[in-house]
Amino acid sequence: MPIAMHWYEYLIELISPSFCLSCHRLSPALCVDCYHGLEFYYQKDSSLEEGGRDDAASNSKVEIVCRLHGPLAKLLKAYKYQHAKNLGVFLAHLIFQHAHLTPHYDFLAYIPLHPLKLRQRGFNQCQVITQALGELWQIPVVDLLKRTTYLSPQAQIEDRQERKSRVKGIFALDEQVKNLIRGKRILLFDDVLTTGATWREAQSVLLTAGATTVDGLILASKK
Ligand SMILES: [Zn+2]
Repeated sequence: MPIAMHWYEYLIELISPSFCLSCHRLSPALCVDCYHGLEFYYQKDSSLEEGGRDDAASNSKVEIVCRLHGPLAKLLKAYKYQHAKNLGVFLAHLIFQHAHLTPHYDFLAYIPLHPLKLRQRGFNQCQVITQALGELWQIPVVDLLKRTTYLSPQAQIEDRQERKSRVKGIFALDEQVKNLIRGKRILLFDDVLTTGATWREAQSVLLTAGATTVDGLILASKK
């Protein structure tokens, strides 16, 4: 890599189309101006801290890396819906460079898609990012959770209890997985946080099965 090049310039040159996916200017996949428009932050999301959970869940940490707006929102849209699968590696490097957490986990895991949705999209965007992160951090990535119920987006549901009961039971674990995760520390990744209900349900399933820690890593949130 030439010394003057920033890591992300080098990466997006490797993977990219010839225009910025955010502003459509002739450039790599994310031009320098749009890169500087990203808003990184460290935040324990308060909506994930609502009461009524057991000790292991309330002691967990959730890091949100970036605010979902402008350039990142456009990049994520291109990533998910225009089959720009290679952008997953770029997004993993973005997280690797900007996340504050200490990656002292036994496994990385991710929120699965329902098989029907996986067929429609062709890939799980969270899985691609998590696998690239696993390589960067040298932590095994394990396909822990299965999605058993297809849900349409739930951003409009205002009531917290209703959101919670709607996602109850949407994930399942194989018996082998239960043996694997007992006593283990897991970092559970999701790309975009809407209400937190889905992520919390996945966390709850893993804790109930015996994991000691299930922390969260979220690429982006609107808040
Ligand atoms: Zn741009």
